[in-house]
Amino acid sequence: MTEPKPGYTAASGSRLIQQEDPSAMAADTTLTCRDCGQQFTFTSGEQDFYAARGFSEPSRCPDCRAARKNERDSGSYGGGSRGPRQMFTATCAGCGGEAQVPFEPTAGKPVYCSACFQQRGGGGRAGFGARGGTRGSY
Ligand SMILES: [Zn+2]
Ligand SMILES: [Zn+2]
Repeated sequence: MTEPKPGYTAASGSRLIQQEDPSAMAADTTLTCRDCGQQFTFTSGEQDFYAARGFSEPSRCPDCRAARKNERDSGSYGGGSRGPRQMFTATCAGCGGEAQVPFEPTAGKPVYCSACFQQRGGGGRAGFGARGGTRGSY
């Protein structure tokens, strides 16, 4: 009579081995930064992220990308919103000289250079003709 030994069949429980689907999980890629020449990892997660957005794979390492982003942020700061104002050149009705005005000169309306404008009391307070408008010469 042979006693059947209770063999150790410990493999009866959970299967911990999960099969990785190679088509769903892309492998990490090592890319070379075109700016500093350093190699960096383009992880599978990032690849998904980029693919989902239709981006092409990055050509710069995260460091250089951050640096460029900072540069762009600080560069556009103050430069974009405050562009050079467009000035129009007209003939001053007061002295006949060149007058630069921030608006388009309308025909029939006198345009004054800043000096004449100030002389005529147009300090920008009360506006046109508030003072001394009754000269009658026009
Ligand atoms: Zn780099
Ligand atoms: Zn003038």
